[in-house]
Amino acid sequence: MNPVQDRYCRQSLLPEIGRDGQRRLSESRAVIVGLGALGSCVANNLVRAGVGQVVLIDRDLIELHNLQRQILYSEEDLNRPKAVAAAEILQKINTSVAIETHTKDFNVSNAESLLTGADVVLDGTDNLQTRFLINDVCVKRGIPWVYAGAVGTGGMVMPILPGKTPCFRCLVPSLPGPGVLQTCDIAGVLNTIPSLIASLECTLAYRILTGQPDVGEETSYLVHVDAWRQTFDRMTIPRRAGCPCCHDGKYDYLDAVAREMITSLCGRDAIQITPATQMEISLAELEARLSRLGEVRLTPYMLTFRSGTEEFSIFRDGRAIIKGTKDEVTARSLYARYIGL
Ligand SMILES: [Zn+2]
Repeated sequence: MNPVQDRYCRQSLLPEIGRDGQRRLSESRAVIVGLGALGSCVANNLVRAGVGQVVLIDRDLIELHNLQRQILYSEEDLNRPKAVAAAEILQKINTSVAIETHTKDFNVSNAESLLTGADVVLDGTDNLQTRFLINDVCVKRGIPWVYAGAVGTGGMVMPILPGKTPCFRCLVPSLPGPGVLQTCDIAGVLNTIPSLIASLECTLAYRILTGQPDVGEETSYLVHVDAWRQTFDRMTIPRRAGCPCCHDGKYDYLDAVAREMITSLCGRDAIQITPATQMEISLAELEARLSRLGEVRLTPYMLTFRSGTEEFSIFRDGRAIIKGTKDEVTARSLYARYIGL
């Protein structure tokens, strides 16, 4: 038996996977959007299962309170980009998988190009806006994706196969008002729930990639799990008549005009600024400029600058995370002052 077969022998023994299923996994490209608790469990499963190409997208840096549940990171990784730290450990786990990393904000300016060529997209995000954008690209391009969410002691998954099943906007027609949805920062999250949901999510991805999606004609299903109460519920989800996305072909979130985005990072004393246009910043030049004003640290991926109580982390694509403020106007003016844009 050759070593490649040997590595996956316990998996290809399963009649559900078999040799043919294993070969299909090895020829597949999976894109994971978001590498928090869900995304890191998903990436760990896919890489160990031998999915041939795994693409990691995340904009954030690792913080101490992530370590309670984000299984790919350790204390040594604090303040490193999640995608970079994840790729490093994943590549050690399985050198035969091609891992691609993108330390960037997934948004309208890059969503289509980042998902191009995917055989499946896996949800590791923590917000609806990004899910609507994934849904628009996937429905437009006919790419299957798996919706997943975890908060508190519960979570849910739903497989979405464009052209066959309902889409995400059939389930959630539009963005609810601010404050309606629970988030991990407000509700907390039990560390057993992301791994449980990620396991269901990856299993759906294996079914899709091996050509055995478990969906009905014109329907999908949503599984809701509560780990604390030990309950599993499965609901049939029908297609919504007149869904703007999968029925009318209107991609509202993808077609939104790219604009500068100022986001207050959920539950943290930090603001993120994403430039409207694609750009490439010379971090070395910026280091030379800023080192006269305060303490500067430069890594291949980002530059961190500290001045007073604020700390700036800026990436090559111009995106910045400003820690130490919750005020968008202050953050924008600091960005203008130090970055000069
Ligand atoms: Zn729909």
